[in-house]
Amino acid sequence: MPIEQTLILIKPDGAARRLTGLAVDRLDASGLEMVAAKMVSVSEDLARKHYQDLAGKPFFENLIRYIRGEFHGLKDHRILALVYRGEGAIARVRQIAGATNPEEAAPGTIRGSFGRVTTKGQFENVIHASGNAADAAREIALWFKPAEILPS
Ligand code: UDP
Ligand code: MG
Repeated sequence: MPIEQTLILIKPDGAARRLTGLAVDRLDASGLEMVAAKMVSVSEDLARKHYQDLAGKPFFENLIRYIRGEFHGLKDHRILALVYRGEGAIARVRQIAGATNPEEAAPGTIRGSFGRVTTKGQFENVIHASGNAADAAREIALWFKPAEILPS
């Protein structure tokens, strides 16, 4: 397994429901290494770039509002962004997070335990985790400057 880096965001529902510590605890327990962390005020532009591949999906506009904390009254649109590094980090963090749809996420995963589908159909799934190596590289470069990430 190659050493990989992956981007994690504690989404506004995770912050509002005080699940940040739980998520970090599970990521740390995996043995992966936290190599970057910061609070970010999510601008409209950053949100749209982060989810650029989903532009045009019916849920896209609400997804932008969701990640900016507009459904959870998040102050300053702030969310916690993290980079974890380690062997097979991308797939391992996806496994800890669980499937995209919280109703399909395995019990015991973060999304399976704490995610919900709203009455309007939005997946509020607590945590973002990069989906593959290309996404991880693009997302990490979007959220972090190289100097903010600890060297390996
Ligand atoms: N999403 C949604 N409805 C859908 C698909 C996705 O609300 O039918 C939201 C959900 O919050 C998800 C995000 O859009 O986490 C990004 O979608 P993606 O397919 O990239 O899933 P992820 O990589 O987050 O598992
Ligand atoms: Mg994705």
